[in-house]
Amino acid sequence: MQLVWILGDQLLPHHPLLRQGAKDQLVGMIESVPRGSHLRYHQQKLTLLYAAMRHHANAMRKAGHQVLYHSLSDEPRKAGYADILAGWIRKHKIREIHLLDPNEYDTLHSLPGLSQKLGIPVLNHRSPQFLVPKEEFADWAAGKRHLLMESHYRRLRAKHNILMTRDGQPEGGDWNLDDQNRKTFREFSKEKPAVPPLASPELDPVVAEVAKDVARLFPDHPGKAKDLWIPATREGALAWLKLFLRERLEKFGPWEDAMVEGQPVLFHSVLSPFLNLGLLSPMECIQAAERAYRNGKAPLNSVEGFIRQILGWREFIHGIYWLKMPEYRKVNFLGAERPLPRWAYTGETEMRCVSQAIQGAIDRAYNHHIQRLMVLGNYFLLGGYDPKAVLRWYTEMYLDAYDWVMVPNVLGMILFADGGLFATKPYAAGAAYQEKMGNHCTSCRFDPKKKEGPNACPFHFLYWNFYGNHAKTLGRNPRIGMMVKLWEKKGAEEQSMIRREAQKFLDLQS
Ligand SMILES: Cc1cc2nc3c(=O)[nH]c(=O)nc-3n(C[C@H](O)[C@H](O)[C@H](O)COP(=O)(O)OP(=O)(O)OC[C@H]3O[C@@H](n4cnc5c(N)ncnc54)[C@H](O)[C@@H]3O)c2cc1C
Ligand code: SF4
Repeated sequence: MQLVWILGDQLLPHHPLLRQGAKDQLVGMIESVPRGSHLRYHQQKLTLLYAAMRHHANAMRKAGHQVLYHSLSDEPRKAGYADILAGWIRKHKIREIHLLDPNEYDTLHSLPGLSQKLGIPVLNHRSPQFLVPKEEFADWAAGKRHLLMESHYRRLRAKHNILMTRDGQPEGGDWNLDDQNRKTFREFSKEKPAVPPLASPELDPVVAEVAKDVARLFPDHPGKAKDLWIPATREGALAWLKLFLRERLEKFGPWEDAMVEGQPVLFHSVLSPFLNLGLLSPMECIQAAERAYRNGKAPLNSVEGFIRQILGWREFIHGIYWLKMPEYRKVNFLGAERPLPRWAYTGETEMRCVSQAIQGAIDRAYNHHIQRLMVLGNYFLLGGYDPKAVLRWYTEMYLDAYDWVMVPNVLGMILFADGGLFATKPYAAGAAYQEKMGNHCTSCRFDPKKKEGPNACPFHFLYWNFYGNHAKTLGRNPRIGMMVKLWEKKGAEEQSMIRREAQKFLDLQS
């Protein structure tokens, strides 16, 4: 007998290892309490994962597969993967285990040890979950000093013929339409684009049951399991994609960097949880968006902007992870070592932009990209927070968080802890950015324009203090050398005021 082991983030509708009606093949799926307790994962993330797994198992049974399933409530409760697999091997006379390449470095590298422990072969096979295999990315990256997402993205556009003209040119003449996609909050308040309400998923008894299990077994994890707000099935994910294409895609591009209080999603897609579980494939999302453009339903800047996220950023980040692991997890180029602020899991800070983002993460296990990058990421970067602690926080808090996507985004993109492997400069920003792109400052107790005194926005002195602290390391970077020079031109008195205020503020947060 052969067992095909399906990992929780590999819920592919067309799994390449499954044979319909095969009498000598079993399918195994495991909800593991020890794995779910590895970090304090948000309750909604666990609920989505296990509910999606249970639905997937039901769908496979309906399709005629013989499914072995270990759920959270099954005994032995504290058993890990190896113990459960060993029990199945004995009971069902399993001779071989097959699975798709795990998406996580540690899981992939644990397979030889697992095979030894179980005494049978554990064989991994290439997964179709990403468009670019690791080896292809490594070939592309070979010999390059800086890895630029843009050039990888253009290569993929041409290779897969996405948004290309018949004569091999980018549709519309330009590869990159970002200059049309940076509308500010000021423009938002003038134009008042209607933001469609979020669809609430239909009552789902599987989700309700899982939510109870999760709340009982992981009571000290952040968030509320019962508040899961997105569907947990392939059908639900397809409907969610359709709704995004119909209601949000048109305006996705121009407003992708804006932040509006009370609009946690705005025109973003919230497709990452489905993509990362395997419920949707990247190519079906990309092609559906391209069709919307070709049928005149959405403008090129929005469609290109959206496709750039999936074909561009998602594939690139995945490639970087496999290229640089396991050393990547240890990087700390800026020598940051501050422990997380005391309010990281409550959002109880007077900085309105930060508290709103953290509250969003607690309520929905979701923030859109700009809140992750330019609010929270910016704060953790400027404050010199320990990369390992920040990585842990992000990995715990989001519905879509998995190792392959968190490691490069947190360590490379927000913290510059890899010294600029793919980010050409740290994404450091002062209060002016927040004031321009969002409306949090209007209800904040700090004043974004004030640079001194009790009401001065902390981002002001944190920003300059960051350049002061890293003048030597960053001064040679052509994209930010100018900021370092401006820091150096400040008088000694101003410099020491900035350092003192930054230190005082950061000490108060711990
Ligand atoms: C610090 C930090 C942590 C992040 N953590 C995650 C994470 O754990 N999981 C995750 O899927 N994305 C992560 N991202 C990337 C991005 O912020 C999310 O994919 C996005 O916010 C998800 O919301 P959405 O589906 O509404 O995205 P949209 O704005 O609608 O974008 C469409 C899709 O593009 C993809 N995408 C866009 N940017 C990236 C990126 N940088 N890396 C990978 N995929 C991208 C996602 O699949 C996303 O669904 C992180 C970004 C930062 C800066
Ligand atoms: S004033 Fe400063 S802390 Fe307050 S919301 Fe604006 S940028 Fe954030």
